[in-house]
Amino acid sequence: MIRTMVCEKEGCRGNSFYIYTEENNLVIICSECGERYSLDVSYYDYLMLSSCSQCNNDTFKVFKDTEKEGVYAKCTECGNPPDKVYIDESGTQVSYEQKKLDEMKDVIYRLNERLALMENKIDILGVDQQVMQQSLGYVAEFVQKL
Ligand SMILES: [Zn+2]
Ligand SMILES: [Zn+2]
Repeated sequence: MIRTMVCEKEGCRGNSFYIYTEENNLVIICSECGERYSLDVSYYDYLMLSSCSQCNNDTFKVFKDTEKEGVYAKCTECGNPPDKVYIDESGTQVSYEQKKLDEMKDVIYRLNERLALMENKIDILGVDQQVMQQSLGYVAEFVQKL
């Protein structure tokens, strides 16, 4: 179940928070009373930044999945998530674009591997080489355009 985080300080019940990431935790600060909470977000491969990805507002509603790991934040103004910074395999911070690019490179790499495998199989089966080479050519062309 997704639960909306509400400030637990007596007499507050605030539900909008400032957020920032500290080590493996997402620190959320009640915008009403300043109470701080720390949520473990070490399972994410990205860091949430302190402002909205769309409108730069810096207060968020925070949601927590009570059954599995998951903390979500939504801008109190426009409902979008906060900006994110991704962490690559070597632990370096990368932008979303860089992360996508790396993922795409990975996909292409695996695609190439699969193509090589297919080519081998085709050799074995003796399928019409010309037809196959043509389609492989299309794929190569497509990959180059990425
Ligand atoms: Zn509060
Ligand atoms: Zn926003």
